[in-house]
Amino acid sequence: MIEEKGILFILSGPSGVGKGTVRRELFEQENDLKYSISMTTREKRPGEKDGVDYFYKTREEFEKLIEENQLLEYAQFVNNYYGTPRKYVEETLAAGHDVFLEIEVQGAMQVKENFPEGVFIFLFPPSLEELKNRIVNRGTESQEKVLGRLKEARNEIEMMDAYDYVVVNDHVEHAVTKVTAIIQSEHCRRDRI
Ligand code: 5GP
Repeated sequence: MIEEKGILFILSGPSGVGKGTVRRELFEQENDLKYSISMTTREKRPGEKDGVDYFYKTREEFEKLIEENQLLEYAQFVNNYYGTPRKYVEETLAAGHDVFLEIEVQGAMQVKENFPEGVFIFLFPPSLEELKNRIVNRGTESQEKVLGRLKEARNEIEMMDAYDYVVVNDHVEHAVTKVTAIIQSEHCRRDRI
């Protein structure tokens, strides 16, 4: 018997560690994963598209989604809301597809409460110094926001023990290879003939 429900994979870790890059690279490759596009109240960055990178919402719209219990998890991160649409994840898993979330740590911990069977992967920076350079060099954020993200990153690293896997992001392609191996292993572990 092959497992009928899809597996929920959660890639998380501190801001600036390269979660977005690893996720985009992973989705460049052939795989059967479905990416859950998040909702956010943060401003669109140059080049980003509504419905591709995020669903961009006003604070009022986002708070309505919270009230209506439409989010599987949500978190406030550097003064903006970010959240995962519940319906998409539940329906996609029920249809037998794997779902991939790329979210920050507070949100990942909420998912763990509802989906303890999910596979939690923590992307770890090669060093804190390197993480700082990445956040600063992204250049899209004000000084104040950079400091906020760094503070957040230190708190997030403390949560690492709650995860099933830790992947060091020294090179993107190595990290993607490891995440792919984790996905394959989880299928070998769960799918039964
Ligand atoms: P960014 O503003 O750089 O796109 O994202 C900021 C942080 O929010 C990143 O750590 C990203 O992984 C996280 N994030 C993106 N979508 C979600 C979500 O739906 N829920 C939570 N909790 N975090 C998210």
